[in-house]
Amino acid sequence: MTDPQGTPMLRQYRELKRRYPDALLFYRLGDFYELFEQDAQTAARELNLVLTSRRFSKKVCLPMCGVPYRTVTGYVARLLERGYKVALAEQMEDARRVKGLVRREVVRVITPGTVVEEDLLPDKSQNFLAALVPRIPYPISNLQFGLAVVDLSTGEFAATEGSGWAVLAEELQRLRPSEIVLPASLAADKAWAGPLQAEIGGERPVRLSPVPDAEVRPEAARARLAAHLGSASLAGCGMEDRPLALAAAGAALCYLQANQIADPLTGGAGPGLAHLRALTPYRLADYMSLDAATRRNLELTHTLREGRSEGSLLSLLDCTKTAMGARLLRRWLQQPLLDLARIHERLDAVQELVSSPPLPGQGPEEGSIPERRPFLRADLRRLLDGMYDVERLVGRVGFGTANARDLVALRRSLARIPSLKALLADVRSSRLRALNASLDDLADVTALLGRALTETPPILVREGGLIRPGYHPDLDALRHTAAEGRDRLAAFEAAERERTGIPNLRVRYNEVLGFYIEVTKSHLRKVPADYERRATVRGAERFVTAGLKAREAEILAAKDRADDLEYELFVDLRRRVAAEADRLLAAARVLAELDTLAALAEVAARHGYTRPQVDDGDVIDIREGRHPVVEQMLPGDEPFVPNDTRLSADERLLIITGPNMSGKSVLVRQVAIIVLLAQMGSFVPAKAARIGLADRIFTRIGASDEIAQGRSTFLVEMSEVAHILAHATPRSLVILDEVGRGTSTYDGVSLAWAVATELHDRVRARTLFATHYHELTGLPGQLPHARNYNLAVVERDGQVILMRRLVPGGADKSYGLHVARLAGVPERVVAHAQEVMARLERREERVVPAVQEVERGLLLPTDDQEVWAVVHELYGLDIANLTPVQALVTLNEWQGRLRTGGRIERGGACRKKR
Ligand code: ADP
Ligand code: MG
Repeated sequence: MTDPQGTPMLRQYRELKRRYPDALLFYRLGDFYELFEQDAQTAARELNLVLTSRRFSKKVCLPMCGVPYRTVTGYVARLLERGYKVALAEQMEDARRVKGLVRREVVRVITPGTVVEEDLLPDKSQNFLAALVPRIPYPISNLQFGLAVVDLSTGEFAATEGSGWAVLAEELQRLRPSEIVLPASLAADKAWAGPLQAEIGGERPVRLSPVPDAEVRPEAARARLAAHLGSASLAGCGMEDRPLALAAAGAALCYLQANQIADPLTGGAGPGLAHLRALTPYRLADYMSLDAATRRNLELTHTLREGRSEGSLLSLLDCTKTAMGARLLRRWLQQPLLDLARIHERLDAVQELVSSPPLPGQGPEEGSIPERRPFLRADLRRLLDGMYDVERLVGRVGFGTANARDLVALRRSLARIPSLKALLADVRSSRLRALNASLDDLADVTALLGRALTETPPILVREGGLIRPGYHPDLDALRHTAAEGRDRLAAFEAAERERTGIPNLRVRYNEVLGFYIEVTKSHLRKVPADYERRATVRGAERFVTAGLKAREAEILAAKDRADDLEYELFVDLRRRVAAEADRLLAAARVLAELDTLAALAEVAARHGYTRPQVDDGDVIDIREGRHPVVEQMLPGDEPFVPNDTRLSADERLLIITGPNMSGKSVLVRQVAIIVLLAQMGSFVPAKAARIGLADRIFTRIGASDEIAQGRSTFLVEMSEVAHILAHATPRSLVILDEVGRGTSTYDGVSLAWAVATELHDRVRARTLFATHYHELTGLPGQLPHARNYNLAVVERDGQVILMRRLVPGGADKSYGLHVARLAGVPERVVAHAQEVMARLERREERVVPAVQEVERGLLLPTDDQEVWAVVHELYGLDIANLTPVQALVTLNEWQGRLRTGGRIERGGACRKKR
């Protein structure tokens, strides 16, 4: 049967497309990949390519765009970033050797969450595929969920359970998965997909990928996981009582398996999941949760203004030597600990690696003071330096895309482990000891790779040169045959010279002719009759003979068989290494942690950080604290001024005032960062610090401070404040910077006042409130656990100097006038300003008592009784039971009263309130 409109190529394209309807199909045509029809339109739009068309027959002409195959990676990367799925269809035969249509197959399907290609992945951050299985999805806020996370490039596979939309949102914001697998019924449901996309936010849309609903049922998930991991390993991972987590893990695995395709070259199993060996459960409650606004405001991984990684806390801390370490450090920063024992373990290890003698009053926990070993850190870092990304190498080995060079890189990295273990042989801290004890030296794998692979194999794995002599007898024999063939060729050459009497006759080889005999012009007369001429070149002619061709066949056959065998041996080797994936990955994780701890120690030593004393009390007491990033960014001659800060249940609300640029924002952030660093197990930029564990850190920045970026509005600010009031506990640390500033002064002050009061009275969280609202200095007078501090300013020689020093008490509010006078504003103007201020202050006095009204959302800068009466009526109005006519009548009446100050006649329904 022939399609009347089709050509063989079009039919082939349509057939491939039919199998991958939801992917953009890159169809290989010679040196290009081409996309057709809808795919072409999408790709042209997303990649800014010229949309042309291709004529398949007289009647069929399709929209088309194309990219050169050499640069395809960049295009694919951009499509993945935008959430697309891509299928690459390759030519499976050499077009020059085939008559008619070349066979094509899809060799790889890539989605944003399943990338393993080295050049498509960022080195220093992870790329996650998440799978989400919710229960009781309506209403969304009550949900319970299972969440699985896979990093296919490193073999990480973990799952957890939780409840509550906010908890889910925070975890997703931390992971920032590039793809989320969902039960199909939910993926198709806008009420779900929309909010999920919105929560994760960011510039790139997250791809939502469905799996059949039946696959996420616990029994189906359990069976699938048992088949892949082995029942024993599944039983051992301790998730039996977590059916939702299991369901999510099953959904992830189901999706990954469905995306696999058989290797069209070998017909074998194709890209594998061999390195996805262990499913690790984790508990959300083990880590401090940080919401998106807090991550952003503290500039953990990106700066607030430009969104760049330079200038972030991470870029300051990250002096890791390996990509594995860099990824782990990022994770630690984003997941501070809540468990004191684990925090102390890390701090002990960092301390040992810092190797500075403990400072008085802040030694480690009793009994574990490590002795000085000044070179431990340097030696450790030297050994780590230049280690390859073992995690990702193992990922590629498991996936079946590793080439021989990858395996050599793996061997070189593993070969350093014994020295590393020797170096760590007598470490003292328990974490370093445990890491060393669990570090498998993998001598068997290193030896195997060393025996098998040549020192510098080629990138291509099908053209020989990979396997060392002596590794396999058959290969040695084939190589021997090929070598013998070459010897015999040399003998043949000598014999032919003899026979023909041509002294410079040569046997040579090229791609086109194979082996041939070359005779220069001057000897052509002597060429015997059995030579067949094949080519003429400058000054010579080329011939073959039947005997030569026979030898050629022999040699090439041996060489071909050797190459094929080498490939088989290589694939087998790769499989054997993949079988050790869990040991390799465990070692990689130890290397990563050593690197991370050494980096924290390095930063501490470089910048003079000290060990914080972390406990479960309520005191946060920082002596001479600094902002780690700001102190590095100040111009050379400007020293950073350290400050003491103390918070406790008794003094839990600090109101921090001071003029513009006095250092309020820096101070409050530095406290949050120091707490966060301490809980990730790092030393801190302070002379001494005592940190009573914080269960969470919240930070909010007033809308006006952020408005420059056009990102935040007052509404956002208030919804964030609402979030804090709902979730903060007495153990939390809350940082508010200019909150309430995004609206008019009266609303702003009043809201700030009320929010501070609520935090003090009901939430009882430890709170730093930086504000330019001088009015808030009235709070400590009314709230027993609130204190005023300000950033000192002095005048010297007619100059205003910002001291950046935090001192008790509220800021001097006439300070602005003072500055104006110093700046040369005429005295009469300053005096006038003083008068105006006095007048305003008299009115402000009413502001504070009126704050009770704020809780009902009402505040007006007036004491006109009639206005208040109208407001109260408005407040109490039952709109749902009002007819349109009544509404109009009411509005009309209010308007009248306000216009005439209340001296208008009206019906009996109105009461005067004031
Ligand atoms: P505010 O919030 O009071 O307006 P910032 O906290 O934004 O002021 O600080 C303004 C600038 O002052 C910062 O960008 C920084 O350069 C400098 N600064 C802040 N605190 C210090 C300090 N403790 N030591 C030295 N310079 C500081
Ligand atoms: Mg500020």
